[in-house]
Amino acid sequence: MNDVLLTGTQPTKPRFSFEVFPARSGAAALALGNAVQHLAAEAPGFIAVTYGANGSHRNASLDLLKHIRDHTSALPLAHLTTVNTSRDELKATIHRILDLGVHDFLALVGDPPKGLGLDDPVFRDALSAAELVELIAEARAERPPLTSVGRTAVAAYPNGHPLSRSRGADLEWLAAKQQAGAQFAITQLFFHADEFLEFVADARRAGVTMPIIPGLMPVATSAQLRKVSALAGQPAPKELERAIERVGGYAPDLGVAHTIELSQAILAESIDSLHLYTFNRHEQVLAVLRELGLLTAKASPGHAQ
Ligand code: FAD
Repeated sequence: MNDVLLTGTQPTKPRFSFEVFPARSGAAALALGNAVQHLAAEAPGFIAVTYGANGSHRNASLDLLKHIRDHTSALPLAHLTTVNTSRDELKATIHRILDLGVHDFLALVGDPPKGLGLDDPVFRDALSAAELVELIAEARAERPPLTSVGRTAVAAYPNGHPLSRSRGADLEWLAAKQQAGAQFAITQLFFHADEFLEFVADARRAGVTMPIIPGLMPVATSAQLRKVSALAGQPAPKELERAIERVGGYAPDLGVAHTIELSQAILAESIDSLHLYTFNRHEQVLAVLRELGLLTAKASPGHAQ
């Protein structure tokens, strides 16, 4: 039975949010600025900014957060990672981010520095994501009232994390992050709706009650598909891989079509939020949301509130 029959009211429209990463050149920064304006104009729940991922400069993340905060009407959400950083340095960074007027965080351990594996002491000795959730709460408590608002999210892995021993251990880890104060989780990429839906069902059975938002990315190229496959810990669907290769390795429409299909299957199961990894482009993610009927904002690019 659907929500209308159960409650007599229309279900609320699904929400959506985006992820961007700091640009690595002046030209890329210009393109990113344009993409951010288009993304922000569609009134997302938030725009998340990665931190130190793929060796990007950490100050660049703070600059991008500030740009979103100062030049768009969207809520910026700061990824923050513990790897290779002391507790005191982390506390100082949390305060720097709060000073920018950015109050929402995604607490992460982070990718190991280039050339190091997940078994390296730098990674093993890092503060855990759960400890970072607590540290963010501690920093918020040190702030004057009204500047200490904000939510803390964490990462979740539908197909398991490379370090996880089992689905059970992974879910215990996620439950511990919730216990530490996390308010919602965003997932790693995946290719099949069942992988996400079964993970959510298992998480509920393990006592995880916080919202778990599916992370989705419309790929444009064979190289992106390989990258997503490595992150998802799963091979890409063969038909998608072959179809992109058949047209020379560049097929944004095919990535959009796959993400629409995945989103529809997820939204049909009463999941009410989508998180879109944009790869710093707005065209494909907005094409997905348009087809899903989720773009209703009237704001125009460049309009800051
Ligand atoms: P945790 O939740 O602490 O651990 C992940 C899993 O590993 C756990 O579920 C558990 O199963 C297992 N595990 C970890 N430690 C142990 C242990 N000691 N013993 C047993 N099991 C263990 N990286 C970046 O560098 N910058 C980013 O901006 C960034 N953004 C991300 C955004 C999202 C939505 C996701 C899903 C990932 C992102 N990452 C980013 C990658 C992430 O930092 C890495 O996957 C990292 O290896 C794990 O971080 P975590 O916070 O999820 O770790």
